Amino acid sequence: MLLSFCVALLFAGCTSAQQDTKNDETQTSSIDWSAELSPEQYRILRQCGTEPPFTGEFWDHHERGVYQCAGCGSPLFSSQTKYESGSGWPSFFGALDSSNIRTRVDREHGMIRTELLCQSCGGHLGHLFNDGPAPDGLRYCINSVSLQFEHDSIASKEASPKGEQH
Ligand code: FE
Repeated sequence: MLLSFCVALLFAGCTSAQQDTKNDETQTSSIDWSAELSPEQYRILRQCGTEPPFTGEFWDHHERGVYQCAGCGSPLFSSQTKYESGSGWPSFFGALDSSNIRTRVDREHGMIRTELLCQSCGGHLGHLFNDGPAPDGLRYCINSVSLQFEHDSIASKEASPKGEQH
């Protein structure tokens, strides 16, 4: 049921939120997002799109490091808070720094959801749900397209039993 529900949202954009996102662009008006981003990144980050589940680069990604905003590079999530939600999207139970992410009520499609946006560039990231793991029960459901990954080379070397180089 979760899957069918999510599929129904695949190509749904949040119209009013999209307008707000355009307002955000006034804060970064010198940036031509359509030139800076790939068409898919633009659809999701700037037009509140959603990638299909189990298709993104990071839903089954397990390396150590930091997930940054694909629009501006702001650090958003640590691999230490990533977990398997079964949703098909990268899921985190906490943010790296809550001040780097802001929320907004999303009332589109007959639902009331909490939309997650990059504080720095206003890019749409995903949504926040309350079905995550204890103790906080939070699930940051994020589009892979909205993220870029910075590998933690120090942690990787520490994890390597013979100090192998990566
Ligand atoms: Fe950003």
